[in-house]
Amino acid sequence: MPQRPYIVGNWKMHGTRAMLSEARAIDRAAQRHMKVEVAIAPPYTLIHPVHREAEQIGVGAQDCHHADGGAHTGDISAAMVADAGAKFVILGHSERRQNHGESDAIVHAKAQAALSAGLRVILCCGESDKTRESGRAVSFVKKQLKASIPVDHEALANGSASMSGRITIAYEPIWAIGTGNTATAEDIAEMHGEIRALLVEMFGEEQGGEVRILYGGSVKPDNAADILSTPEVGGALVGGASLTADSFMGIALAAAEAAES
Ligand code: PEP
Repeated sequence: MPQRPYIVGNWKMHGTRAMLSEARAIDRAAQRHMKVEVAIAPPYTLIHPVHREAEQIGVGAQDCHHADGGAHTGDISAAMVADAGAKFVILGHSERRQNHGESDAIVHAKAQAALSAGLRVILCCGESDKTRESGRAVSFVKKQLKASIPVDHEALANGSASMSGRITIAYEPIWAIGTGNTATAEDIAEMHGEIRALLVEMFGEEQGGEVRILYGGSVKPDNAADILSTPEVGGALVGGASLTADSFMGIALAAAEAAES
């Protein structure tokens, strides 16, 4: 059965308690669009307050540390965000990779820690403009994903691993994030098709075929319909346009319509 489109808001470093009214409005609107799975990842400080009030939307974190605990001043473990009410965590966002020097190996370790803590993982990948211009976008993204996604070979071999519900991929070309530029439908379809092929290679036909692949990068209500009806696009990871209920739910509505058409 095809999964519901997944529309996830990444609030980044935006939001104090004054933003809770926006989260409430998103939650109320999501109750009217049950054909779409809606979630937000607010800053750490708002995870618990949003979780306490949300009836419909999923609540997640924007990152977590790979260690269970210890001398890591300022960091937060996967178990801690789960304890605050997070059900998923976004990992490997390009802003973390760039601003905090996160390598594929670190993202891999974080993903492992998050899955062990019972969190779902949204794993981000995406190329820079230089890489795209050099014609290496597909090979770069595939290499990044291969090195970042944890695979439990033993569980896969004995059929007990269920990756499709636990891992979501978000393809976010770096040059499209927060710029107003979006990849063309052709480029998105090509990249998502390549990511699908890689997932099938890693997890087999059934499980690899079910992992949702989101697109992210300047998704707005007015371009969402085109992007979300592109082959292999299972939803969107939304930054700027997720900060108000009006624009975010405009995207969710486009997802509902694309799913019905
Ligand atoms: C993001 O940061 O994940 C993102 C896609 O941002 P924006 O929608 O603002 O481009």
